[in-house]
Amino acid sequence: MSACPRPEGRATLVGCGPGDPDLLTLRAVKAIQSADVLLFDALIDPSILDFARPEVRRIDVGKRCGRHAMQQAAINALIVRLARSGAHVVRLKGGDPFVFGRGGEELASLRAAGVPVTVVPGVTAACAAAASLQVPLTHRDVARSVHFVTGHGADGAIPAHDWSALVRSGGTIAAYMASRTLALVAARLMAAGMAGATQAVAVENASRANERRLFSTLAELPDVLAAAGFEGPTLVLIGAVVGLANDVIVTERLAA
Ligand code: SAH
Repeated sequence: MSACPRPEGRATLVGCGPGDPDLLTLRAVKAIQSADVLLFDALIDPSILDFARPEVRRIDVGKRCGRHAMQQAAINALIVRLARSGAHVVRLKGGDPFVFGRGGEELASLRAAGVPVTVVPGVTAACAAAASLQVPLTHRDVARSVHFVTGHGADGAIPAHDWSALVRSGGTIAAYMASRTLALVAARLMAAGMAGATQAVAVENASRANERRLFSTLAELPDVLAAAGFEGPTLVLIGAVVGLANDVIVTERLAA
């Protein structure tokens, strides 16, 4: 009797969108349903895990108390090890896997290890927040580009963006991971010539039942946001398109 060939393992990096399961793609749901192992972190709404088979192995690799529960290198190694054991490993990522969130590093380590890998795109936080507020990110004649920037740099500093170029472009700025550094981000943008009166909004938990929004101006939003004490994931949109928002809209959640 010949030995059973070892099943070939594989990995799928799945963009799970901003939280509301209704914003998962069908491809994301199919990947989750076919997973042997699910790796997830704090950006993943727990209800998304309900799509998995009951016997799936669930591993929480998330950050806790501002510290990485698991270092990125350890996560990369774990995905490779599990896939090599023959499992279909599904790594759930918040939003889109390739918009911040280090999906590229996981991809690189899987490729280096020769593990077959597939990537499923997801709704990134900026698009989810824009849809929820009805802010057309690139409304013609108001903004001709949209810039996804991170406000998170090493040691609480902010990244060395080309602030002048950002301001000159006149595009909408979608700032990720910027709630703690927003005062510095705003100061850099204003020093580069952006008007303090430019409209800006912070959206916490975009698409979720506990979504909150704070509309203000570039000059004032940092103080307003600090006073509000948003603790959940928060996205900041800056630019004239914010003035097109429909603030009175209460996001309707589709009945299941
Ligand atoms: N890959 C993710 C981003 C990961 S970086 C994406 O495409 O959306 C983490 C940052 O994303 C958070 O600090 C926050 O700025 C933003 N974010 C993620 N989910 C969010 C949500 N539901 N509401 C608001 N901001 C969110």
